[in-house]
Amino acid sequence: MKALIVIDYTVDFVTGALPCGQPAIDIEQRIGELTRRFVEEGAYVVMAVDLHDAEDEYHPEHRLFPPHNIRGTAGRDLYGTLHGIYEANKAAIYWMDKTRYSAFAGTDLELQLRARGITELHLIGVCTDICVLHTAVDAYNKGFRLVIHEDAVASFNPQGHEWALGHFRNTLGASVVKAY
Ligand code: ZN
Repeated sequence: MKALIVIDYTVDFVTGALPCGQPAIDIEQRIGELTRRFVEEGAYVVMAVDLHDAEDEYHPEHRLFPPHNIRGTAGRDLYGTLHGIYEANKAAIYWMDKTRYSAFAGTDLELQLRARGITELHLIGVCTDICVLHTAVDAYNKGFRLVIHEDAVASFNPQGHEWALGHFRNTLGASVVKAY
């Protein structure tokens, strides 16, 4: 059984408060296509979406990044076509708030995946070398097979993006695919 984890494809991370910018804009259609396809196939689809509270000085990102994905703001809306796809398929998609880079940190993601007998995770979203990477590392350590969609991940940092793709392939044993 497989699942699709769509990571942080929100307004703030694409064009907003902490943007990946053009590389993230460029994957909009692909993110939409893959999400729609996995929903149609009946796969388990998760929107893993960063959540922060304003002025949370105890959060480790407080000192690292400008405020982003603040609770109740439009910056947390899914970006572009993904927004409409989610709205049209809410019943079939699990919206999962997360507060750290990894979608596994402090969430019930692993329990939800194990309950469904899922062994293969497909990762798409942003940023390749931050939240996608940390989610992939946790998934590797928990024994999930990984498929990373090269044409549906992006970063503000081209070197970090390329490095992470190599790390997925060579160190985490992931399949790095495009035109899947
Ligand atoms: Zn964050």
